[in-house]
Amino acid sequence: MGEAERGDAAPRLYVSYFCANRHETRPAFAADAVIPESWDCPRCGLPANLDSENPPPPPKIQPYKTHLAYVKERRSADEAVAILEEALETLRERRASGEVIY
Ligand SMILES: [Zn+2]
Repeated sequence: MGEAERGDAAPRLYVSYFCANRHETRPAFAADAVIPESWDCPRCGLPANLDSENPPPPPKIQPYKTHLAYVKERRSADEAVAILEEALETLRERRASGEVIY
């Protein structure tokens, strides 16, 4: 019943996860925890699962796009100028009528 026993009381379950780069990760779970089917590999970030023979394939690379890039896909620059003009015109009208202060 010594102090050293403290903190070791809760049973732990070590579960092996495997990623496509053949890394093995063994996070510990409380014995009564629900074990997730997948886990992100802490070494390479790929998804890992419980099947060493059949790890999940690496996800398709999604090239990072800025919000502006998405907008440019949908709108040409001319359209953007027109939309901006329209928005400014509306704002000016509302300002002139005292509806909008700034
Ligand atoms: Zn990995």
